[in-house]
Amino acid sequence: MKAVPLHACNPGPMTGEGNWTWLVQGRAPTLIDAGAGAPRHLDALDAALGGARLAQVLVTHGHSDHASGADAIAARMPDAAFLKLPWPGRDDRWRVAWTALADGDVIPAGDTALTVVHTPGHAPDHVCLWHAESRTLFGGDLAIAGTTVYVPAAPGGDLAAYLHSLERVLALDPVRILPAHGPAIDDPAALLRRYLAHRLRRERQVLAALGGGATEVDAITARIYAGVSNELLPRARETVTAHLEKLEREGRAVRRGEVWQAGQP
Ligand SMILES: [Zn+2]
Repeated sequence: MKAVPLHACNPGPMTGEGNWTWLVQGRAPTLIDAGAGAPRHLDALDAALGGARLAQVLVTHGHSDHASGADAIAARMPDAAFLKLPWPGRDDRWRVAWTALADGDVIPAGDTALTVVHTPGHAPDHVCLWHAESRTLFGGDLAIAGTTVYVPAAPGGDLAAYLHSLERVLALDPVRILPAHGPAIDDPAALLRRYLAHRLRRERQVLAALGGGATEVDAITARIYAGVSNELLPRARETVTAHLEKLEREGRAVRRGEVWQAGQP
């Protein structure tokens, strides 16, 4: 499989240095993720296609840094199809006619084929694309080298689903993850296991805070994220909420209005 990284040229507070998209070259040139429509991204895509026609764009999930470039690509490359797993109520933000992906779909791409792996958690429609032959996974936002992935609370985020997605990808035993942010991940199993351990540690901290008498999200966040910057505070609160919602579903935390308690009611 020949996959060329193409930067989406969209640095910003939410995307860091910006997104990587990947062009799988061959008979069916396939772009993984649409980026955000930056003209320089489209120019690089044109150059990498070298006169070939883009067959399709596979979008890993509906966050705008991955999907919003679809319209600009469609305007410049009218033959391309656009595929993503549906996210009801969100996909019509863009004018392209989406073809619905489903878990397990095998999509011809380049001179090979990619398998759709539904990996919800970071977003409900999140998919990874698996190239079994080379054990390479196009990871979208499942994993980012050197940091953790933001998993918001409901609606949209689902921490329990995210942990399940990590386990599922671990079971594939990838040798390489090509993510949408940051460098390629050459030791995916170690990173995914660190992620699982990290979330388990956070969960213990949330339970300890609850047990120690912190009953509201702000108080729990203050205990766990002492000294966090104002800029990061909303994400810290959201992370705590995501943990509490998971514990609630498991019957390990109870919510009454804004007040949380450990254990059964
Ligand atoms: Zn995302």
